[in-house]
Amino acid sequence: MNNAILSERDTRVLWHPCTQMHDHENFPIIPIKSGQGVWLEDFDGNRYLDGISSWWVNLFGHSNPIINAALKQQVDALEHVIFAGFTHEAAVELAEKLVAVTPAGLSRCFYADNGSAAVEVALKMSFHYWQNQGQTQKTKFVTLQNSYHGETLGALAVGDVALYKKTYAPLLMDVITAPSPDCYFRESGETWEDYSTRQFAHFEEMLAENANEICAVIVEPLVQCAGGMRMYDAIYLKLLRVACDKFNVHLIADEIAVGFGRTGTLFACEQAEISPDFLCLSKGLTGGYLPLSAVLTTDDIYTAFYDDYSKLTAFLHSHSYTGNALACRAALATLSIFETQNVIQKNHILSAKMAVLSQRFLTHPNVAEVRQTGMILAIELVKNKITREPYPWQERRGLQIHRYALSKGVLLRPLGNVIYFMPPYVIAIDELTLMFDVAWQAITRVY
Ligand code: PMP
Repeated sequence: MNNAILSERDTRVLWHPCTQMHDHENFPIIPIKSGQGVWLEDFDGNRYLDGISSWWVNLFGHSNPIINAALKQQVDALEHVIFAGFTHEAAVELAEKLVAVTPAGLSRCFYADNGSAAVEVALKMSFHYWQNQGQTQKTKFVTLQNSYHGETLGALAVGDVALYKKTYAPLLMDVITAPSPDCYFRESGETWEDYSTRQFAHFEEMLAENANEICAVIVEPLVQCAGGMRMYDAIYLKLLRVACDKFNVHLIADEIAVGFGRTGTLFACEQAEISPDFLCLSKGLTGGYLPLSAVLTTDDIYTAFYDDYSKLTAFLHSHSYTGNALACRAALATLSIFETQNVIQKNHILSAKMAVLSQRFLTHPNVAEVRQTGMILAIELVKNKITREPYPWQERRGLQIHRYALSKGVLLRPLGNVIYFMPPYVIAIDELTLMFDVAWQAITRVY
C-alpha cells in the first residue's frame, strides 16, 4: 500500500468532515498508517508532528502504552453493553472519578458519545428541568457571540460561527446572543480583566430583561476555540455564575475543547472558582482514543427528574453507544496518567516554553496579536497591523500555511487567519521548537 493508491480509493467512496471535497482534486488526502507520540506517519514514510492534537482530542500521544494496555484488557472482558438496565465496572469507576475531579457540586454523570451530543443533552436537561418544575415559560437559551458548540441542529443553534451556521439558519431554534468577552477587541492598554468585565455589563442587562424565559446560558470557558481561539478573562465566568444564580438561570460550561488540562488547570472553570450546573466533556476525555462524552450535573437537577414513572418526568434521551466500555476504559487510563504523572505542572513548563517561542511572531508586520491560555497559543494574522483589517477569506491563506507546514512535517490547521498550536502534552522541547520554526517559515512565505 502507498499514499497514492489509498488516497485515490478514499476519494472514490468517502466524504470527509468539514471539507470541500473538490479541494482534494489538487491536493490528495493523506493516508496515515501509524501514530506514535506526537508523530503521525503516512504510507510513504513521511512523518507529521501533530500540532493540533488531531482536532484537540489527543492528550498523551498516539499509541500511548498505558491507554493501549488498558484497552487490550478491556476488549477481552467486555466491549459494549446496553446502558439502560445494565451497567459495567468501567462506567461506574469513570463516573466516580469524574464526580471527584470536576468542580464541587457536580454529582451526577450522564454519558453520550460525542461533544455535540453532550451539548444536546445539557440543553434538553436544562429545558426539561424547568418543565418538571412547572416553569414552562422557560424555553430560550443564551449564547455568546462567536461561540461554537458542535454541528447537530441544537448545538449549531447555540453556536455563533456563521461559516457553519448560516446555511442551516431556517432549521435552527431562536437563541439570544450576547456580546462576546473576546479580548481581541479590547482597547489598547485595557487589561483582559477590564475588557471582560466591561462586556459583562451588556450580558447582565440582557439577562435581567429576559430571565423569565431563559433556561440556560451556554459558554466555552476562557477560550472560544472554533471561533478562532479567541480568549477572555476568568472574571467573566465569575460574574456569569453570580448573575445566573441571581436570575434563576442554568449555566452550561462546554469544556469539550478546553477541559482536561488545556488551559493550565484540569478544568477551565477552576480558574474562575465556579461550578456550572452542567459541565460538558468529550475530546480529551478518552485521551483522543474513542468517542465518548459526559454531562456532569447537580443533585438539584437530578432530583427534579426522579419520581414515579407515571409522572412522566424521566429524561428519556439515549444513544446506542452510551457508556461504551472501551471508551470508558480509555478515559480511566487517561485520568490515571493525570493522577500519576504531574501533568498540570509539566504543562506549565511547556506553556512557558511556547510563550518564549512565540515572541518573535510579535515583530511580524502581519501579526496583530499573539495570545495564549495554557497549552493553547494563537497568532492572529492581518493585512494591516494598525487597522487590523483581515485578509479576505477567499485568499485562503490559512490553507496555504497548512500545506506548507505539512511539506515540512508539521500538522497545523489554521482557523482562517488564525494559526494556533494545541499540541499533545507529551511533546518534547525540540519538537515544540520545530513546530514554531515551521510556522514562522510558513508565515513569512505566505504573508
Ligand atoms: N463544543 C466545543 C467547544 C467544541 O470545540 C466541539 C468540537 N470542536 C464541540 C462542542 C463538538 O464536539 P464533537 O465534534 O465531538 O461533536
